[in-house]
Amino acid sequence: MQQNWSQYLRLMIALLGLSLLLGWLVGFPLYGLLAGLLLYLGWTLAQTKRLLRWLAQPDTASEAPDSVGLWGNIFDGLNKLQKQHIKHRSALQERLQKVQQSANAMRDGVVMTDSRGAIDWWNGSADYLLNLRNGTDQGQLIQNLIRLPAFIHYFEQKQYQQPLELNAPARAHLRLQIQISLFGDNDRLLLIKDVTRLHQLEQVRQDFVSNLSHEMRTPLTVISGYLETLSDHSDEVPANWQRALATMAGQSARMEALIADLILLSKIETGDRNLHEGTVDAGTLLRQVCNDANALSGGKQHRIELTIDGPTQIRGDLSQLRSGVSNLIFNAVKYTPAQGQIRVHWSAGEQGPLLTVEDNGIGIDPTHIPRLTERFYRADPSRHKDTGGTGLGLAIVKHVLLNHDGQLIISSSLGKGSTFSCQFPAQRIVASEALPLESGQ
Ligand code: ADP
Repeated sequence: MQQNWSQYLRLMIALLGLSLLLGWLVGFPLYGLLAGLLLYLGWTLAQTKRLLRWLAQPDTASEAPDSVGLWGNIFDGLNKLQKQHIKHRSALQERLQKVQQSANAMRDGVVMTDSRGAIDWWNGSADYLLNLRNGTDQGQLIQNLIRLPAFIHYFEQKQYQQPLELNAPARAHLRLQIQISLFGDNDRLLLIKDVTRLHQLEQVRQDFVSNLSHEMRTPLTVISGYLETLSDHSDEVPANWQRALATMAGQSARMEALIADLILLSKIETGDRNLHEGTVDAGTLLRQVCNDANALSGGKQHRIELTIDGPTQIRGDLSQLRSGVSNLIFNAVKYTPAQGQIRVHWSAGEQGPLLTVEDNGIGIDPTHIPRLTERFYRADPSRHKDTGGTGLGLAIVKHVLLNHDGQLIISSSLGKGSTFSCQFPAQRIVASEALPLESGQ
């Protein structure tokens, strides 16, 4: 480049020298110089025009014009740059095509939207699962195509830790699971899975448990009835049968509790279908359950303390909330040694209603906490033989909270005690002027 530049300078000086010499030969050296400069200016303008014309043409693949000297170097440089650019662009295009082809080959649907929700691109499976139409749906807001309130809420709240399940908008027989990821400038990538088969299997499982529990309830009631009659006439029963009778009565009571919990759980698991919402006074509910907990504690004399802070009227299903709250408070009684302290606290601030049940009982090893709400999961089975629990209590609590858009937070330390917190959304609080709608109590 340096070499080109000094060559070019030399050429310029030679040209000016020549024009000066020619001017001098005809007796007008300055006119000669001027004529030489004008000649050079004209040539430069002509080259600039060629460059502008080339830049203005839409076909970027055509080569820059040929020229000599400095302009020749500029055009060659531009040609080189353009060739590199074309190569780079076709490599990118090829890669993009491969990504699109592989996304199209996926069985799951993929949809890309911008930050508002306008659809940029989708693959073939999304075409089928969401019934998107090429041509018309490009650029449409996805909220206008999937109008289900659950989807719109999920899409707009931007908390995508958990996927959302819903029926396909245009194909009611399909059950879809949608997971959204944020990328770029709040753009969104929707991954849509067809979970119809899994959903059907889950339905079969739920129906099986529910039917079995109902079917077992009748024979068990008969057995328990006879055992009760026999216990009432225990003086007529031979002495060596009395212990067996007491054990049978205890076990049948356990089975009855288990079946009652199974039936309750399968009812709660169905979500909205069995939710009977009204206005519930959490204060009254907690006072009643704490009274029952005192009775359950009996001779163990637990100190059960209830404190209430802020509004207590919430929107919810009284019977489900009663089951959830009872399970938490009764567990605190069951897993806290005699004379232990149990604190039940209700507060309703800006974050929404929060119920905490805190005990200074046996506590739970933190490794068990993530699995506690699974059915029949017990932190340490050997220590819980005598509690008479069904192993379904916390699973019930979890589903009750899910049905009320809340969440359960457990913290505990072994040997020191546990805290179970139920956080409900602020929208569940019933404003005081809207109160005498319906009483949950
Ligand atoms: P269970 O009928 O066995 O009480 P739950 O589902 O109610 O079943 O609870 C599951 C397990 O969680 C219990 O077996 C127990 O190990 C543990 N757990 C629940 N509540 C408490 C508590 N307050 N203190 C210590 N452990 C608890």
